[in-house]
Amino acid sequence: MAAADCLFCKIASGEIPSKKVHEDEHLVAFEDLHPRAPTHVLIVPREHVASLAEAGEGQEAMIGRLFLAAARIARQRGLDSFRTVVNAGAGAGQTVFHLHVHVLGGRTMEWPPG
Ligand code: 5GP
Ligand code: ZN
Repeated sequence: MAAADCLFCKIASGEIPSKKVHEDEHLVAFEDLHPRAPTHVLIVPREHVASLAEAGEGQEAMIGRLFLAAARIARQRGLDSFRTVVNAGAGAGQTVFHLHVHVLGGRTMEWPPG
């Protein structure tokens, strides 16, 4: 179920435009509006889940699909290294409360993240 006021539900449905790089019945991947790396793609499930902290039993396959999609996008772009990030909660930097995986690549990454 889509949440009425959720930005990523609206992007997933096409109500708000985005540069989509992949979509299927389960998930949508699109370019981040403010990329932090040469590749910065967001992958979201079509179903509304506010955050990883809200995910639970029955959602194992959905979470797995998000990460397999991340690896596929990195492979398609010829990235031999890339980073996946899931910010869960405002204190961790989450600003859009619809579960998403960031795929970042094309530059050297620092560790630990800030
Ligand atoms: P978070 O901070 O929640 O982990 O990540 C949210 C991401 O969504 C940010 O990287 C931000 O740049 C991106 N973003 C915010 N609004 C939009 C939008 O309207 N379109 C797209 N494509 N990305 C957005
Ligand atoms: Zn949503």
